[in-house]
Amino acid sequence: MHNRYFRHLFPLVLTQILVAAPGIAAPAPPAKLGERFDAAIDPAEMSAWMKDLVSAPNQVGSPHDAENARTLVTWFRSWGWDTHIEQFRVLYPTPVSEKLELITPGWFKARITEPAVTGDQAKSHGGELPAYVAYQGDGDVTAALMYVNYGTREDYDLLRRLGLSVKGKVVIARYGAGWRGLKAKLAAQHGAVGCIIYSDPQDDGYAVDDPYPKGPARPANAFQRGSVSDVTLYPGDPLTPGVASTENAARLNISDSPAILKIPVLPISYADAQHFLAALDGPVAPSGWQGALPITYHIGGGQARVHLAVKSHWGTATIHDVVAMMPGEKYPDQWILRGNHYDAWVFGASDPMSGQVALLAEAKAIGALAKQGWRPKRTIVYLSWDAEEPGLLGSTEWAEAHAAELKQKALAYVNSDTNGRGFLNAGGSPALQHLLNTVASGISDPETGVSVLERKRAQLELLGNGWDAGDDDRHLAALASNPARDIPLNPLGSGSDYTVFLDHLGTPVLHLGFGGEGDMGGVYHSAYDSWDYYNRFADPGFRYAPVLAKLAGHLVLRLANSHLPQKRYADFAVAVSEYIEQVKSLADERRRTAKTQTRMLAQNVYRLASDPRRIKADPVVLKPVPEFDFTPVETAVRRLKKSAKAFDAAVAARGPSLPDAVIAELFNITREAEQAVAPDTGLPGRPWYRNLIYAPGHLTGYSAKTLPGIREAIEDERWPDVDRYIQLTAAALDSCAARLDTGTRLIATSTVASAR
Ligand SMILES: [Zn+2]
Repeated sequence: MHNRYFRHLFPLVLTQILVAAPGIAAPAPPAKLGERFDAAIDPAEMSAWMKDLVSAPNQVGSPHDAENARTLVTWFRSWGWDTHIEQFRVLYPTPVSEKLELITPGWFKARITEPAVTGDQAKSHGGELPAYVAYQGDGDVTAALMYVNYGTREDYDLLRRLGLSVKGKVVIARYGAGWRGLKAKLAAQHGAVGCIIYSDPQDDGYAVDDPYPKGPARPANAFQRGSVSDVTLYPGDPLTPGVASTENAARLNISDSPAILKIPVLPISYADAQHFLAALDGPVAPSGWQGALPITYHIGGGQARVHLAVKSHWGTATIHDVVAMMPGEKYPDQWILRGNHYDAWVFGASDPMSGQVALLAEAKAIGALAKQGWRPKRTIVYLSWDAEEPGLLGSTEWAEAHAAELKQKALAYVNSDTNGRGFLNAGGSPALQHLLNTVASGISDPETGVSVLERKRAQLELLGNGWDAGDDDRHLAALASNPARDIPLNPLGSGSDYTVFLDHLGTPVLHLGFGGEGDMGGVYHSAYDSWDYYNRFADPGFRYAPVLAKLAGHLVLRLANSHLPQKRYADFAVAVSEYIEQVKSLADERRRTAKTQTRMLAQNVYRLASDPRRIKADPVVLKPVPEFDFTPVETAVRRLKKSAKAFDAAVAARGPSLPDAVIAELFNITREAEQAVAPDTGLPGRPWYRNLIYAPGHLTGYSAKTLPGIREAIEDERWPDVDRYIQLTAAALDSCAARLDTGTRLIATSTVASAR
């Protein structure tokens, strides 16, 4: 440990000497910008900031959340940033009372608070939210209880085949296999009157690792708070879709908001869930539905009855986004944005403060560069978001408030959220893939000494060469094994503050973090995501905190200071053409499956192959899948590939000699090219989501659907929408290509002009 700090201190001192003596000719050239930046990143300081930020519960509306906003402003200002707080007034329900009781057989009451654990100081404060999920629908119901596994669409299909219905019942679903909000939404859609969600030890408890405090896995009494606001329709304030929640904004009535659930929902721990699950009778749950509790899981729906009552105060909260700006010297109207939220569910050491302290370290280091006389070419905007946890409210409301300006100015948004020991995880827009690979190859991994990119390559190679590797894993491994190829970015759906930028405004984004070794899943959104936990399990010694700061900081500096656009559109075109191949295969596969099913139904295969005592119904009948004409998107992507390649080549060959005015125009052109894939039309049933290349799945929640207009229409059997979105997507790709062509022509004519 001492070694590390010593290594760290040395370049810092050197840089200070070099810059402290202006006018004196330095014998050696001054350290590069990146090195000067790195020298100002101090893990001990990051650790102290985190300790301060997590010293009390800091959920939206709590005193410490407001205090953190003030603290952040003070810090940003002391580092030389032009900083202000931007407020929004949002609907924010808080729990008044909650109750979950087993009524028959026997009696048991679920606890709604998490007890202290030995060796963790955090719980001495009070002020934590009890078990609660925001934007559930209040209610007081007494009904039979039924276990629905993960509560996915497939789980409900199986229940139907078993001849069972959740109508009029309270369901109990386990966390995992999709976003929590969809469990509650599907339960309501199937007629359930209440929904309990618990964390099964199979997924993040003792079946995975020793529970906290002995190990990092979920302790028996921990529960996962969260939001069930339907962010797949639109994120942000459920009452102000598409517009900012300013004081005078037009608001929906609470009862009219499609994002707010209509049934009561409560999260519980596995210690409590065991009492409810053990009380269930009825058929034994199918093998894939058995969890790791020491019981045989039954589906229930008979004798076991529960009383579930949740009452909220449906008030408003003022949320505080911290906005810190450093104006660009040359192109002040070109913005590079960098954000991470600071609100948590309880203490939030991992989520979100591990990412927040990286962002702070970057801001301080960039501020130090500015104090030494450096200025970015473009404006840098650092954003500490409030109210991410209840449904991305801080970032969504801010971006909706500034939508017109952001469409004119924002070139890229770099996001992070949680961070810990392990491997680089990077998602985002493929045009930024090469930049990410380049920067990551220059950041050193603290545990192995190789670059974080090299370590990622090793991880992907190992995964893709395992006996159980899937096609995607093998494809990634092949790319990773070839040092001449870049590692692709993960496609992004939703689940963090990049959503409004990528999905609504069409701004390219990167979402960064490290993890996979410091296991944080077991305390996710519980009171045990604490300072003590973080230091013991997530990132002991704050070794990966500086790594995220360096990676994100170098990206911001490159984006803010480069002479030319740091994007490679050929990578985007290649990614889109892969997505097109995927949706074509999906259609073919669905067609084959539907045909096979028709034959099997005609031959009574499903009944003959099933246990007649259990299976009561055939599967849902699939619609025959017509042949789709993918020619428009295939033609469009071929054109895009050509245009992108020509543009990238022109920038590389002639960019360096272009005059500033032309370069400024080139940046405008790229911004418009990127926004072209997010036209105003939006996706079916959810027009807030405009990006035709990426969206969160409407039945997966966080995880991404690529070419969502086409893909989800195939999955949902909406055949006319398939054709419609093939046309719309092709038109968007064409207009993207047309903008890039304009750029290529501009470069050609400007080069000719300057040669004259
Ligand atoms: Zn978070």
